[in-house]
Amino acid sequence: MRAVDIIMKKRAGETLSADEIRFFIDGYVRGEIPDYQVSAFLMAVYFKGMTAQETAMLTRVMLESGEVMDLSGIPGPFVDKHSTGGVGDKISLPLAPIVAACGVKVPMMSGRSLGHTGGTLDKLESIPGYRTSLDLAAFRKGLQEDGFAMTGQTARIVPADKKLYALRDVTGTVESIPLITASILSKKVAEGAESLVFDVKCGSGAFMKTYEDARALAKSLVSTGTEMGKKTIAILTDMSQPLGYKVGNFLEIEETLDCLEGKGPADVMELTYHLGAWMLVLGGICKDLAEGCARCEEAVASGSALDRFYRNVLRQGGNLGELTTRRNIWRSAFVQEITAEASGYIASLDALRIGLASVHLGVGRNRTEDTVSPVAGLVFEKKRGDKVRQGERIALMYGKDEACLEPARSLVLDAIAISSEPPAPSPLIIEEITQ
Ligand code: URA
Repeated sequence: MRAVDIIMKKRAGETLSADEIRFFIDGYVRGEIPDYQVSAFLMAVYFKGMTAQETAMLTRVMLESGEVMDLSGIPGPFVDKHSTGGVGDKISLPLAPIVAACGVKVPMMSGRSLGHTGGTLDKLESIPGYRTSLDLAAFRKGLQEDGFAMTGQTARIVPADKKLYALRDVTGTVESIPLITASILSKKVAEGAESLVFDVKCGSGAFMKTYEDARALAKSLVSTGTEMGKKTIAILTDMSQPLGYKVGNFLEIEETLDCLEGKGPADVMELTYHLGAWMLVLGGICKDLAEGCARCEEAVASGSALDRFYRNVLRQGGNLGELTTRRNIWRSAFVQEITAEASGYIASLDALRIGLASVHLGVGRNRTEDTVSPVAGLVFEKKRGDKVRQGERIALMYGKDEACLEPARSLVLDAIAISSEPPAPSPLIIEEITQ
């Protein structure tokens, strides 16, 4: 077999065999096929796509490039949730302890901030002392005793994705549905969950901006996940404005605590309960969504979900005393108010611009080696649909330093549109894609 023949076959829009996909990806991981040939291959896939079988094979080969988490001996069910990424999207943080309190094990491997979207690991690390890199033994112990554990991806999990993603990033081939599907699913399957719930974001702050693209990705994730032997569902959800009122690392931990105390923002609570209910249904704990939602609400009302969260914080080295003392107080000294430029209704709060502003403020990274600030971010007092008077405060912005405030301010002001009439209501949960 020759790499160039496989590139030409895909360039002609033909379907690759399992052996050809394996030859190509294994050869790349072993360093036998050079970056320039893989770049051409990725571009051919970008333009010609892949069939569901090819996508599943690519996922399998990528998965087999590394280790699969060994969860043997721990009683399940194991269910995980993956979000395609958004602004203010802290759902994993309240969701994992809620679902764990209801009897589902959540083996959660999360990422760091990427582009304008935040990262679960960065948020957790804003808790003083919290460690996000667990070895397998610690991960298993957390899972067994608390029902969930939070860790980053190790170098041994899907090494093929690390190499391929870095190349995609610089060759304009990230936005390809089969490549995204294989990248996300290979990592999710490697963490050992039996069932997967995908939150596929749609809107300006999402990876997939349009309904059509988000739906195509959701369908591909569900069909490939099913092909890989996992019970899989995808929920399309709105990401045209940030989720909740807080965008930032420690700020989102605070909002997580509010959710676990049953007083989180309505949108975050709605989505958390909905995704949680699906996890309980796929895990076989509840028969339908109504029962699943009720169980999740009970776990919050009884305090058992909050207790799970605190147990996890302690287990992963976090300082509970500091977490409690700093809550709602720990803020950057570099602060600015954002006020309404006119009276009316907030017609939109563009998630992309808010996300980009948050990166300027120090919540996220411009380069992988950048450090993030625990105390930077935005606290909104108004969201889409709210009435405002000219000069009234819409948000407070906290920066990592003085200089970052001005560029962030202009992005936030551009993100806010005010209209004389209230905007039409739009649903948070748009559609569910099942097999
Ligand atoms: N997230 C991933 O993990 N992979 C992709 O290809 C895109 C988003």
